[in-house]
Amino acid sequence: MELVPTQNDVVSLLRRTGGLRNGHYEYPGGQHITEYLQVALTMRDYQAAKILSVGLSRRVRANTEIRAMIPELSVVAPATGGLPVAYGVCEALRARQVYWAERVNDSESLHFRQYLEVQPGEKVLLVDDILRTGTKLAEVKKLVEERGGEVVGMAVVVYQPNPTRVDFGALPFYYLAQLGDGKYYENEAACDLCKRGVPFDKVRL
Ligand SMILES: [Zn+2]
Repeated sequence: MELVPTQNDVVSLLRRTGGLRNGHYEYPGGQHITEYLQVALTMRDYQAAKILSVGLSRRVRANTEIRAMIPELSVVAPATGGLPVAYGVCEALRARQVYWAERVNDSESLHFRQYLEVQPGEKVLLVDDILRTGTKLAEVKKLVEERGGEVVGMAVVVYQPNPTRVDFGALPFYYLAQLGDGKYYENEAACDLCKRGVPFDKVRL
């Protein structure tokens, strides 16, 4: 495998480690889908995690402006799910620090831990496992910027764009693989697999 894994490398790594599955799934919103993606399942495999983190860090390092900021760079995840990638990328880049935002429940806005202060002018690379709609990354970007930090780029392992994706303008964005999300049905009544009586698993997000 090259130092930056190709799209096919990433897909086969995800499949081999159970992070990408074919089948019949129902999302909490009632949509039915033929593919399941959970990067956390892949990141538990240390060697796979290392390949992905190092590959992603190389993508980021290719940006000369960001490369010049590395000694001062903060790697920030929008939620705990992005942490294995954030630590892996930070280690591979030899960046300065890692931290993350979180929320106790969905009705709460994202926040940082007590005493965690973003320094004025702090350079921040946002890192997560997947970008779908980008709403969480947009929220953590706002959180960093409101505290005087500067978001200089975003990096994710898998880019799985949703039609409602947030527009981040010219912000540098890096990913290792782009995936569609399989065949998609609005609900059970519209689902061909349900019509054939194929059982489904409910997806917990
Ligand atoms: Zn179905």
